[in-house]
Parts: sequence; structure tokens; C-alpha cells
Amino acid sequence: MKVSRSFLRHLCQTSSSPIGLEVQRALGSYIYTQDGNAYLDFISGIGVANVGHANPVVIEAICQQAKKYLHVMVYGEYVQSPQVNLAVELTRHLPRSLSVVYFTNSGTEANEGAIKLAKKFTGRSRLIGFHGSFHGDTHGALSVTGREVYRKPFLPLLPKVTFLRFNDYKVLKEIDESVAAVITEPIQGEGGIQLPNDDFLMAVQRRCRKVGALLILDEVQTGFGRTGKLFAMEHWKITPDILTLAKAMGAGMPLGAFIARPAIMRALSKNPPLSHVTTFGGHPVSCAAGMAGLRFLIENRLPQKSALMGEKILSALTGLAKKGPMIREVRGIGMMIGIEMRQAADCKRVVARALKEGLILGWTLHTDRVIRVSPPLTLSEEEMTRGLETIEKALRA
Ligand code: PMP
Repeated sequence: MKVSRSFLRHLCQTSSSPIGLEVQRALGSYIYTQDGNAYLDFISGIGVANVGHANPVVIEAICQQAKKYLHVMVYGEYVQSPQVNLAVELTRHLPRSLSVVYFTNSGTEANEGAIKLAKKFTGRSRLIGFHGSFHGDTHGALSVTGREVYRKPFLPLLPKVTFLRFNDYKVLKEIDESVAAVITEPIQGEGGIQLPNDDFLMAVQRRCRKVGALLILDEVQTGFGRTGKLFAMEHWKITPDILTLAKAMGAGMPLGAFIARPAIMRALSKNPPLSHVTTFGGHPVSCAAGMAGLRFLIENRLPQKSALMGEKILSALTGLAKKGPMIREVRGIGMMIGIEMRQAADCKRVVARALKEGLILGWTLHTDRVIRVSPPLTLSEEEMTRGLETIEKALRA
């Protein structure tokens, strides 16, 4: 009790009603609390625990690296093998052009770096974002985040940002020669799991190439197997100029990156040198964890598993939707799924009821009618069944 009182008093509260689980430990798909309860985590700490909580191979890599060295120098000065090894392994799984990695601590920093890089490389300053997007909460990332209610208190943000409607082809002509970069998620996560139309991302890419604007693809939430491919861009066969990653990248440790081709990345090393620096970006322990996590993902074919299990979850939820009027639509790809309710109140009620039954669900930041379903990709069949049964129970309650 004392800890939760201090939590409310001494930690800055960002939520009007924090979930308040007092965590004792977490393992695999479960979070265990001080009061002896176990919660099945169907949101993976918001898209982070793709390889499960406290995956033993990740913990081992963390321990091994921690025994060798922690932070030794700001990013990019010393040769640190955890960073180098992860950059090599990561780029092996990316389109050939995406060969140079800049490590950050988070998704918002990855997007900050990508925006600065695009401005410096193109010499242009106009930016294009999409309504319903989320790219982070620092000033730069917030400037291209497409939700007015979160932007308004912090105006003025970056000037010359234009928002377009996601999936609207007609507005793409707004992308012209004055634009440094277009930034988009392949699937809008916080926007309520909004999928792109089949060739929308390709149309954006084509328009960018035509006018010399860079395409920044934010795979912070969709990356590392979440959507049934290692990276979501593989579904639509696009190759961005700059790719941003974070969340599951560090397998539970803080780690992000922006990745581009050498010619673009060189812009950060001259006029002036040290154009973009970070103290902790690419922390050796985070990179060691990221490497272990990435290898685990690949060796255990988790992206493929995410595709198969995601289909089962999607079809089970679609079945549930047909049983009553409460659900408007179930949509998603791989294990990135949203249940859109007709009423926000139902969404809140179902999430609260599921929690009482030991299942962690959540809603998406921009859409309070969409229940987020994004379990660890290591989820067992038995855990899947338990989760789905709990959702059904919560819907009926
Ligand atoms: N981009 C996307 C698509 C995200 O979903 C998020 C986090 N929800 C971010 C960026 C920001 O990442 P972080 O919280 O690590 O700064």
C-alpha cells in the first residue's frame, strides 16, 4: 500500500486513472503483482515484449554485457561491439539501401533524428504528416503527430507541417519540391490500427521520389515481427529513405534507431561535424539485449508465428463480433489487432472487466473506441485461448 501511495505522490501522474498494478516480476506473457495475482499481458507493454517479458536469452545477454562495460562514451566515437554487431545483424534483414544505423534511446528520438536528417540532407524544411498518426512526444516528433488535442497545448511547434488524410490518394499532390520529408507509419497504431489501402504506401513512395522528398517510415510499433513480417514494409514492398525503429527493438531495454543509406547519413558528419549527437543512444547493454532479442525472433520464426496466430486471433474475434451489436469491426494484421467498439464506454468497460479477470488489454491513444490486442509473439496456444475466452467473458459481462 505504501508504495502505491508514494507512486501517486512522487511520480508525475500522466493518466487520470493509472492502471496501478504493483509489479513484482514479469515472465513470458505474464506480469505478476505484489498481491499474488498473475495478469496475461495482451498489449506487451505497448508493443515492446515481442519476445516475451524477461526472455532468458535477453537477460543472459544483458548480464554478460553489464559485466564487460556499461556506458563508456557518447554515441559514435568509440568502437563498441554490441552496437556494431547489432547494426550488422539488423541491416542484414533490411533492404540493401538501408545500411547505416544511428542508434537512439526511444522512438520519439528516432523520429527526431530522422526529421533533422531529412532537413539537412535535402536543404528543405517543409514536412508532411498524416492525420491520426503518432510519432512521439518531443517537440519535433509531436510536430508531425496528427492529433490536434495533443498538439494544441504546446503550440507553436515546428512551422511548415502539413497533415494529409491517410489513405487519400488525391491529397498526395500536396507533396511537392518544397518538402523535406513525408513521415508515416505503415499501420497507424495509436490511430486505432488503421491499415493502409493496398497500394497507398507505394503511391506515397512514388510521389516522394518524383519530387525529391524523403520518405520516413515509422516502424516503431509495427517492427520486429508484430505484423507477421519482420518489418511491416515487407507487406507492401516499399523501401523508405529513412526507417525508424524502437519499442521491441531493445527486447525490453530502451533502444531505437533511424536507418538510411550512406549518402543520406553522411549529412550528419559534416557542415558542421557532430550535427546530431546523443550520450546514451545505442547503450551497449541495450544493444546486447537487442541483438539477443533479434536472434531469438529469427531463430524461433516469430514473425511467421505472428502471422499464423494473428489470423487465428483475428478470426476468433471476428466470430465474437458477429455474436452481438457491440463490436463495429475487428481489423489487423499479424498480432497487431484492434477491436473497434461502437461506443467508447463499452471499450472502457471491456478493458476494465478483462483486467479484473486477469487479462491486460488497452485502448489506442487517438481512438478511445478501439481495444488494442497485441500480445507477445511468444504467446502459447493455451494463453491465446485463455485470452480470447476472457475477452468473450468481458464482452458478455
Ligand atoms: N512512433 C510510433 C508509431 C509509436 O507507436 C510510438 C510510441 N507509441 C512512438 C513513435 C514513440 O516512441 P517512444 O515512446 O519510444 O518515444
